[in-house]
Formats: sequence, C-alpha cells, structure tokens
Amino acid sequence: MTRLLLHACCAPCSLEPLRMLREEGFEPTICWCNPNIQPAEEHDRRLEELRRYCEATETPLIEAAEDYARWERGVAPIGALSRERRCRACYALRLAEACRVAEREGFEHIATTLAVSPYQLFDVCNEVLAQLARAHGLVPVIRDFRPWYAEATRRSRELGMYRQNYCGCRFSAAEAVLDRAHLRDERRRAKEAVRKGAADKGGCGAAGCV
Ligand code: SF4
Repeated sequence: MTRLLLHACCAPCSLEPLRMLREEGFEPTICWCNPNIQPAEEHDRRLEELRRYCEATETPLIEAAEDYARWERGVAPIGALSRERRCRACYALRLAEACRVAEREGFEHIATTLAVSPYQLFDVCNEVLAQLARAHGLVPVIRDFRPWYAEATRRSRELGMYRQNYCGCRFSAAEAVLDRAHLRDERRRAKEAVRKGAADKGGCGAAGCV
C-alpha cells in the first residue's frame, strides 16, 4: 500500500475519494486544514463530523495548523470581485499547508477532496494542487471524483452526516442564498408559464385541473 495524504474539506466529500483511492492501492491519511470555514461554529461542526467518521472507520486524521488571519489577509479582500481569484487563493492557502504536512510526515503522494463537488472550480483546484505538490517534491494524485458526487450525497445522508449547503466562507454563504433565490424564481416562472399555457388552452391551469 502507498501512503497518501488526503486533504479533506468535510466528511461527506471524503467518502468516495477514500473508497476509490483505497481501491487503487493507496493508504490515505486525512488532513484537515480549512481556515476558510465561517462562522467558527460551522467550522467546528464540519471538523467534528470528520473526526467522528475517521474514528468510526479507523482512518488516521491529522489536524493541521489553521491560519485564520492569513485567510483574511490573503483571500477575503478579493471578496465577491472575482470568484475564480478568490477560490484560487483559498485553495492555495489550504493545500500549501497540507503539502507542508505531507513533506514533514514523509508522505510522497497528496490528493484533495476539494473538487469532489461539481460546484467547485475543478481545473483551478487541480492546477493549484499540481503546482504546490511539485514545489514540495510530492506526487499529486489528481482524480475526477465528480461523477460520484451523487453517490457521496446518498451515502452521507444514509450515514446521517451533517451536510452543509455552502462552500465555507462568508462570500460563498451569501452566494448560495442568492443562487437558491434565483432557482426559486426560475421554478416559479416555469410553473407560471405552464399555468398560463393551460389557461390559454381553456383549462384553469391549477394543479389537478384538466
Ligand atoms: S467559495 Fe469556497 S473555495 Fe472559494 S473562497 Fe470561499 S470557501 Fe474558499
């Protein structure tokens, strides 16, 4: 088995990468380093869920140093100006620390769960991981876990895991609220169009009415 350090953003996103990397012959140790998660209660809740899962499955877990002030200095000022620049800086800050841990602990391979979710910036994340891994003399193990996101969702629900509905920072929390509002509006508009179409054909358009 080949030892690998797997940077993890949360327990639900770790499920499928752990399974698949083990199937490939890797022996993953999880590394937690996510000073981007706000507020503190949310950060602690996600970490606690990951601790529970690692303990239950006897998966080794390393909790790395988290520099919240550095995140505020290096990532927060980008804010909502450019999501790509903000997330790139955020990925880099977290993965750089994970690479330092991997080097210190004698790992040769490194991977991350950051791009499991289809809502993340897959190419940006992997580009950052590859650059940092190379700079630390590590082998980046880059896989596309996104096709298994639905399975991760199903399994994490089945396990009763805590599942968050935004990426982590305060900007992503606000963006998620807006996205959900847009989706609600779109659904409302679509329903309205169906109702209008039915009414134009002579029905009343109400549910169950012909
Ligand atoms: S959206 Fe996620 S990856 Fe991007 S800056 Fe916020 S916490 Fe970091």
